Amino acid sequence: AKWVYAFGGGSAEGGLADKERLGAKGAGLAEMSALGLPVPPGFTIVTEIGKHYLANGQAFPEGLADEVAAALDGIGLIAGRAFGDANDPLLVSVRSGAAASMPGMMDTVLNLGLNDETVEGLARASGNRRFAFDSYRRFIQMFGHIVLGLDHALFEERLEDLKLARGLVLDAELSAGDWEEVCDIFKGIVLEETDTAFPQAPDAQLWGAIGAVMASWNNPRAIAYRRINGIGAEAGTAVTVQAMVFGNLGETSATGVAFTRHPSTGEKILWGEFLPNAQGEDVVSGTRTPQDLTERARRETGSETPSLESLMPAAYADFAAVADRLERHHRDVLDLEFTIERGRLWMLQVRPAKRTIRAALRTAVEMAGEGLISRAEAVARIEPRTLEQLLHPTIDPDDSGDIFARGLPASPGAASGAVVFTPDEAETARAQGRKVILVRVETSPEDVHGMHAARGILTTRGGMTSHAAVVARGMGKPCVSGAGTIRVDFKAGTMTAGGRTIHRGDIITIDGGTGLVLVGAVPLREPELSGDFAMLMQWADTFRTLKIRTNVDTPADARAARGFGAEGIGLCRTEHMFFDHRRIAVVREMILAETTAARADALARLLPMQRTDFAALFEIMAGLPVTIRLLDPPLHEFLPTGEAEIAELAAAMGIPPARIRARSEALAEANPMLGHRGVRLAISFPEIIEMQIRATLEAALDVEAASGLAVDLEIMVPLVASKAELDLIYERIRAAEAQVVRQHGRAPRYELGTMIELPRAALAAGELARTARFFSFGTNDLTQTTFGISRDDAAPFLNAYLALGLMPADPFATLDQEGVGELIRIATERGRATRPDIKLGVCGEHGGDPASIQFFAGLGFDYVSCSPFRVPVARLAAAQAAI
Ligand code: ADP
Ligand code: MG
Ligand code: MG
Repeated sequence: AKWVYAFGGGSAEGGLADKERLGAKGAGLAEMSALGLPVPPGFTIVTEIGKHYLANGQAFPEGLADEVAAALDGIGLIAGRAFGDANDPLLVSVRSGAAASMPGMMDTVLNLGLNDETVEGLARASGNRRFAFDSYRRFIQMFGHIVLGLDHALFEERLEDLKLARGLVLDAELSAGDWEEVCDIFKGIVLEETDTAFPQAPDAQLWGAIGAVMASWNNPRAIAYRRINGIGAEAGTAVTVQAMVFGNLGETSATGVAFTRHPSTGEKILWGEFLPNAQGEDVVSGTRTPQDLTERARRETGSETPSLESLMPAAYADFAAVADRLERHHRDVLDLEFTIERGRLWMLQVRPAKRTIRAALRTAVEMAGEGLISRAEAVARIEPRTLEQLLHPTIDPDDSGDIFARGLPASPGAASGAVVFTPDEAETARAQGRKVILVRVETSPEDVHGMHAARGILTTRGGMTSHAAVVARGMGKPCVSGAGTIRVDFKAGTMTAGGRTIHRGDIITIDGGTGLVLVGAVPLREPELSGDFAMLMQWADTFRTLKIRTNVDTPADARAARGFGAEGIGLCRTEHMFFDHRRIAVVREMILAETTAARADALARLLPMQRTDFAALFEIMAGLPVTIRLLDPPLHEFLPTGEAEIAELAAAMGIPPARIRARSEALAEANPMLGHRGVRLAISFPEIIEMQIRATLEAALDVEAASGLAVDLEIMVPLVASKAELDLIYERIRAAEAQVVRQHGRAPRYELGTMIELPRAALAAGELARTARFFSFGTNDLTQTTFGISRDDAAPFLNAYLALGLMPADPFATLDQEGVGELIRIATERGRATRPDIKLGVCGEHGGDPASIQFFAGLGFDYVSCSPFRVPVARLAAAQAAI
């Protein structure tokens, strides 16, 4: 088999299509090289080897060494230098790169091939001794950390000591001799810590680095990143070995990162940051403040350091041309890494840019407008879940707020929360249900779990491409970065700016759209959903076949859902209307009534209330379908539990409190989830559903009379297991209908259906469909009853299941297609066999989950129904399922 793929000098083995084998980075480099763009020559060892290495006790397969040696010679030929040559050594980087992009999560070693001899050769060949030893000390530290497992701090503390002793502040002030001394100190650290001298043989260095980079697939932050992003653990990483080019070769050299369009706003401008005389991670590490790429950005940021455009106009022009060419070729917004060595441009990485949802929408819509992509591609490019971020609030511009500090607007959205200073605190707080803002000087991949747990992130150092900014944008979390006036005191648990101090636990608000940090919780404003969002959603709607309804019980929610594009109500939980504080008393009287007459009296008072509720919903939905579900929860949920409440109710009803307590006890259940609820209530308390049906039908009559629009009414029965149950309830519904006809001369049209939320119902679907005209899958209960897991009790053990990988995802969030999905498939087939045109819908949480929606679309469902804020997500997911 071929394990090593070469690139460079205007050609390449493999390209973008080989991402699985070459990893995203290797594939991108090969593609750029094949396009004839300036890429330092190199080769990529395929992902299978990375996987093999980890599966076989960190051993390489036989034959790999020969392929690598040959490829290394190939690099040497193109670069005109040989690896290990003491006079003019070829140096390489050893870079990680998985098929799925995992930015910064795995390791990379730079300047490999340097030793006591070759460093002298590099100094001579480059004519720059300071540069040679600066590179060598970087290499010793990187190799020490990544390959030998030594702490960065070991090296950095000693460097600080030396600077202190010399009275120096900036790295730039160190001379060649200083760096030479630093190299000796660093080698000493390696010897001291590992009892072995720093490896001098370039070959040993190379294989050590290759192995370490492969092993970095399993470092804790890579594992955490994969877990958070749903990336499988099996793939392994490819390793790219590439000739070094040097951005640290003096003032005509530089290194930088750029986006082909603005990653926050999506505006079509080349946008990025660079540092002159710098290497590798210097730009994103936050240790020096990076400079703007373009003059325009420099003017906007008011930066005093020159832009790349003005500092190195020729190299900038080359880069702008390459960026444009690459964007056309990839037909996507790109994130580029480049280095300029003595005025000459080299491309080091290309990948699709992480972008905010705003930028994603704008670029998708604009690229379709430019003819770069089709509308279907534009629709397919937006991750449905990210739309929820758009619904994130921003700070009300009318509220000036109490400004504590300002930073960079690194990731949009506003959030308030209590200040924490460590990722672990953030995680603990989330577990306790507290909202926090994570405050760091700068973040590193080790902080990712805390960033995930926090509502927002604030850093005091680092630019718009700093780790914090990039990761926050990917997560869709508000982030303010580089708020330089803030001083954090971790020991004291405080931060100070402008003479004011904020303590751990104090509430602040950050606005990642403006960069503001405010004291206290500030009023937030809901976003406007127009422009690019509206356009893309309009395009999405032309593709989908699945209708999107919403689960709502109140007029306010119904209105919001229509604003988000809901095409009806798929679930109205009528009991939620009972909880309203004005009517709970009547509901309780109804439940506590001891005579039929007393119950009838309470129900008679509830009837007009329910009628008003339903009328409001019908009016808002204006002819769109509305599914009313009969009373579902067990009655004891409505009774008071506290002594004071019981006493109050007893007084109001003129009965002794003991009676209420006795009734509560009588209704109490060991396992309410499987208890006296759903259709079982309708069977024992016929007068309750009679009232609900009358209220529903009369409301529809009222609205039809007032608006002239027919109400598209569906009535469904929860928790049904058998046709016998359903038939009995339908009979009672028809009796209630007959009463309405007697009283009003007619009744509105309506359809009867059932929920499918018990395994037995799914299996008996063929029978149920003989009476039911529609099925609504209640996937929350169906998941509970299929797994035999009570959702309310699941958290403690479900988390363990997920951590151990015993379940691919939380089955209450994403449909378990193998088990629950199989029941749904069976029910669908059997239902259709009886009634080919049976209407099928979903009204559980899963109706708003993109992966589940894909599944329901595949079964040819008519609609999914979800909470109002998920409606845009569902519309887009349904479109993608159809594309
Ligand atoms: P990551 O996956 O974390 O982005 P990279 O492999 O891209 O890691 O390496 C990090 C940085 O190291 C790059 O952005 C680039 O600046 C620098 N780098 C890597 N390879 C080379 C090289 N051959 N020459 C010069 N710089 C390099
Ligand atoms: Mg990179
Ligand atoms: Mg249910």
